[in-house]
Amino acid sequence: SSSIFAAVEMAPRDPILGLNEAFNADTRTTKVNLGVGVYFTDEGKIPLLGAVKAAEKARLEAAPARGYQPIEGLAAYNNAVATLLFGKDSALITNNQTLTIEALGGTGALKVGADYLKRLLPNATVYISDPSWENHRALFESAGFPVSNYAYYDAATRGVNFEGMLADLRTMPAQSIVVLHACCHNPTGADITADQWKQVVTAIKERNLIAFLDMAYQGFADGIKEDAVALDLFAASGLQFLVSSSFSKSFSLYGERVGALTIVAASKDEASRVLSQVKRVVRTNYSNPPTHGGAVVAAVLSSPELRQQWEDELAGMRVRIREMRSAIVEKLAARGVKQDFSFVLKQRGMFSYTGLTAEQVERMKTEFGVYAVSTGRICVAALNTKNIDYVADAIAAVLK
Ligand code: PLP
Repeated sequence: SSSIFAAVEMAPRDPILGLNEAFNADTRTTKVNLGVGVYFTDEGKIPLLGAVKAAEKARLEAAPARGYQPIEGLAAYNNAVATLLFGKDSALITNNQTLTIEALGGTGALKVGADYLKRLLPNATVYISDPSWENHRALFESAGFPVSNYAYYDAATRGVNFEGMLADLRTMPAQSIVVLHACCHNPTGADITADQWKQVVTAIKERNLIAFLDMAYQGFADGIKEDAVALDLFAASGLQFLVSSSFSKSFSLYGERVGALTIVAASKDEASRVLSQVKRVVRTNYSNPPTHGGAVVAAVLSSPELRQQWEDELAGMRVRIREMRSAIVEKLAARGVKQDFSFVLKQRGMFSYTGLTAEQVERMKTEFGVYAVSTGRICVAALNTKNIDYVADAIAAVLK
C-alpha cells in the first residue's frame, strides 16, 4: 500500500524566505541581501540591544524557575504593552476597557485575533491594503475569512491613493474587518497623515467596520509616542478595535517571538468576557506563551534606566535608517541616475518601494548579487556605509 503522503504536492516557497536561501547559496563575497525585514547595524549585524543584554543578565542571575505562564502571558508584560500603545494616562486603560495577551510575535497576535474574530463574526470579509505585508492574506485566509484588498498605494505619486482608500472603506459591508498598518507601511513605506487617519476613523465608524491595527514598527518612523497617532485617534473614537503589536524589530528580538494582541472593548465587563474567549483560542493553539522574551521586554519597560536606554537605542536605529535613505538618494544622483528618488526620503520605516521592476530586480541579483523582493521593495535597514556604494552601482546599472 502507498504512503498516505504519496500524493502530497510541494507547497510554493515563501517568497522572502526563498530569497534568503538563494542569497545564502550565492558564493560572491560582494553579495548584499536587501530582501528581509530585519534591522542590521552598520557592521551588517543584527544588534543585541544593550537594554536587552542588561535585562537578560539580571534574569539569568536570578535563575527563575521555568513554570508555565498564564494563558494570557505575563501581567507585567501585558500592562507594559498597553501603556506603550496608548500612553500612561490612557482613559481606556484606567477604565479597564483594554485586554492584552502576550502572543508569539506580531504574527501570532494577528492569528489569535483572526481566530477569535472568526468565532465572533463568522461571515465577515477581511480587507487588507493593496499591497500589504505578504503574510496578511494567507494568515486571514487560513483563519477561514475571504480576503479582499482596499486601494492603498499609488505608483504614480509613490504615496497613498487616499481618495481610493476612503472610497473603498465607504463601500465595505457593515462588520467587515479592516487591517490597517498603524505606521511604517510594509512594503511601501507610505503612511497616511494624522488628518487622513481622522477621516479613516470616521469612515470606519460610519460604516460600522472593525479595525485591526497592525503595529509592527512602533518607534521606527518618528518615535514611540509619535508613531501611535492612529492608535490615539482610535482610542478617542469610542470604537471597539484590535491591535497586534510586535517587539521583533523595536527590541531586535526576532527569534524570541515577542508580540501582543490588544483588544479595546466598550467596558470593563465586556473586556473580561472577551478575554475569556481569547484565552480559549490560545489554550487550544499553544496553551500559553514562552517566558523569556516577554520577561525581558517587561523588565526593560518597567525600569526607568533600561527604558531610557532602549529608547535611545531605538532612536539610533531610526536615525541610521534615515541616514541610509539620504545616502542612497545622493549616491544615485551622483551616478547620473535621472529618475527622482527623493520619495525615498519621505518613506517611513525599514522599507523602500523603489519602483524597480521585477526584471531590474532580477538583473541586480544575477549581475551584482544584490537581492531584493521582486516587487522592488528593498530593506533600507540592511544598507550600511560599506555596501551602499556597491548597491548604488547596481541600481544605477539596471536603470540605464
Ligand atoms: N505585520 C507586519 C506589517 C510586519 O511587517 C511583520 C514583520 O515583518 C509582522 C506583522 C510580523 O511580525 P513578527 O515577526 O513579530 O511576527
